Order: sequence, then C-alpha cells, then structure tokens
Amino acid sequence: MRSLIERLHREHTLSPDELRTLLVGCDAEHLALINQKAREVAYSHFGNRIFIRGLIEIGNCCRNDCFYCGIRRSNRNVERYRLDKETILSCCAQGYELGFRTIVLQGGEDNYMTDERVVDLVSSIRKAYPDIAITLSLGEKSTEAYQAFYQAGANRYLLRHETHNEAHYQSLHPESMSLQNRLRCLYDLKKIGYQTGTGIMVGSSGQTIEHLVEDILFIETLQPEMIGIGPFLPHHDTPFASEPSGKMEQTLLLLSIFRLMHPKALIPSTTALATLAPDGRERGILAGANVVMPNLSPVWQRSKYALYDNKASMGAEAAEGLRLLEEKLDAIGYVIDKSRGDYEN
Ligand code: SAH
Repeated sequence: MRSLIERLHREHTLSPDELRTLLVGCDAEHLALINQKAREVAYSHFGNRIFIRGLIEIGNCCRNDCFYCGIRRSNRNVERYRLDKETILSCCAQGYELGFRTIVLQGGEDNYMTDERVVDLVSSIRKAYPDIAITLSLGEKSTEAYQAFYQAGANRYLLRHETHNEAHYQSLHPESMSLQNRLRCLYDLKKIGYQTGTGIMVGSSGQTIEHLVEDILFIETLQPEMIGIGPFLPHHDTPFASEPSGKMEQTLLLLSIFRLMHPKALIPSTTALATLAPDGRERGILAGANVVMPNLSPVWQRSKYALYDNKASMGAEAAEGLRLLEEKLDAIGYVIDKSRGDYEN
C-alpha cells in the first residue's frame, strides 16, 4: 500500500488494478499517509494559500429530474425562486467589495434562463468587473450556447460528470438524460477554452469501486482544470431519501488521489464535505484541496437551494463569514488567497 502511494506521488498515475487495490485496501494509517503526500503536493504549488470563489445560486427552477437532487423537477415541496439580474449584480458587487475575484453562477436548468438571458447576464457582469473570473455551473447546454457564454466573458464552467459508467449514470438520472450528452458538453467546454471542472459525488446510490476506477481514468483522460468531489448526501424529498451518505474517509481518499494525479488542479473542499462533518472543510484541505466556495447568495433564499438536507450556507460557508473562515484556516496553518486563482500550467 505504501509503495503504491509513493508511486502515485512520483508518477501521477497507477494502473486500474492498482487503483482498485488502493480504493479497497486503504486503512486509516495509509489514508493519513496519502493525505499527507497530497497536502505536500498542494503546498509545493500553492503554498499555504486557499483560493476563494463566491458562489451565487441564481435559481432553483430545474427541468431535470436527477434522482439524487433536492431541486429536481418532481419535488413539489421546494419553494422555487429565481434571482433577477439586478439582484445577481448586487451579489457580485458585494462579493467584489469583500475581495472575491471569482464568482460562480450556479443554478438549476431553468427554461426561463434562455441562452440569450445568460449571455446578457454574463456580459453585464463582465462589463462591470473586467478583472474577475466568471464561472458558470448551469448544466447541459448546446455547443453554440457554451460558445456564446464564453464570448460574452465567461472563463470557467463546472459540470460534474457524476459517473462515467453508463448503467450507473442511468440509475441516477431520468431517461431523458444521457452520459453521452454530459461528455459531449465536457469536451465542448474544453475545446472552447473554458477552464473546465468535472467530478463526482462519493457514495452515490449504487456506486462501486469499479465505477470509481472508471471515474479516475476518465478524469485522467479529460484533464480538467478543476475537480469537484463531495459526498452524496440524501435529500428527504427525493427517491434517494433513505440512501446512506457518502463516507468521509472515502471522500478524503479520492481527494488525495486526484491531487496526486493532478498536482496543479483546482480542487475545492466542498460544502457537502463541510455539511457531512463540522471539520469536513478543514479535513478536505488537509487531504489536498486548495479552494473553498463561500455562499454569496442573498441570505433569504439560501435555504431554498437545498440540493441535500442540512446544507451548510452560513458561518464559515458564507461570504459574509469570511473572518470566521479565516480563523478556521488559520487554525490549520492556511490563509485565504483573494486573487483570481486561475489554473496555471
Ligand atoms: N444544475 C447544475 C448545477 C447544480 S447541481 C448541474 O447539474 O451541473 C451541482 C452539483 O451538486 C451536482 O453536479 C451534484 O454532483 C451535486 N449534488 C446534487 N445533489 C446532491 C446531493 N444530494 N448530495 C451531494 N451532492 C449533490
């Protein structure tokens, strides 16, 4: 086990069989070892600095019906909302004032948010804040739409593939969705020139070690600039309400594997991880993550963007709680870096 970890550190890759061995057999002692190696690699590229991204949840209306997601179309118990352009711009202003130089617009796949409206929104933000990075996380769009958003000034796009296994993908999504289209989107985004993020939920219903190996190999092929890894957390109004949460240890192991395979990637310690355990955010950083994404959405709607139960959005998960985040990072020897934090080759 130790020699596998050392080789992953040195060579940034392992065979599928070796990955399997690592995923199955990594005990607490070796988890501590791989977390430490991953942390050292992150440190060698980023020092003790953690990039921050201001997350604006622009709406929870969604045409999709993903079985895991709390804002899926079939959930009649969500109070739906949509931020208007002025509100989004004022969130950006607040974020800019707080020092954020990356904002992330995330939301459901909302029919009202036509490609034209997204272009208009991105252009307005770009015009008002020429120096910030604009990241979009708005789901699957056409090639032309991705191109138009990019031309309007978007720089980055987050779209997790969720699983690279066809049958597993189908078991998490309604028939109207396909792995093939997800992958088409991701290859489009890369080709257009976005810094592209993908990733998975750890412990999603039916996920096996074999699936995780496929995910790791896919990410190795895609070479995304950003990798989003968080535990699956159940939402009470979804078909997966009684599925167990993803495990902390497995999430930390995967974070470290990705850090060792993709030394310079931007890897967030996710809100889902911070929701799973009070010290989740810090443990993610100590396993090799180098980004956190505090919530910049208006406080009055945060609770409505509930992808899963008990989602953290206040305290150190909130943009207005930066000082608290600072303290928490300081306690583990890290500081906030307010620069754009682009991917650098
Ligand atoms: N609609 C957009 C963005 C919102 S969902 C999209 O699909 O990309 C953002 C991410 O949240 C998803 O990619 C998924 O991996 C994660 N997510 C959704 N439901 C979740 C749950 N129940 N537990 C943990 N993560 C979840």
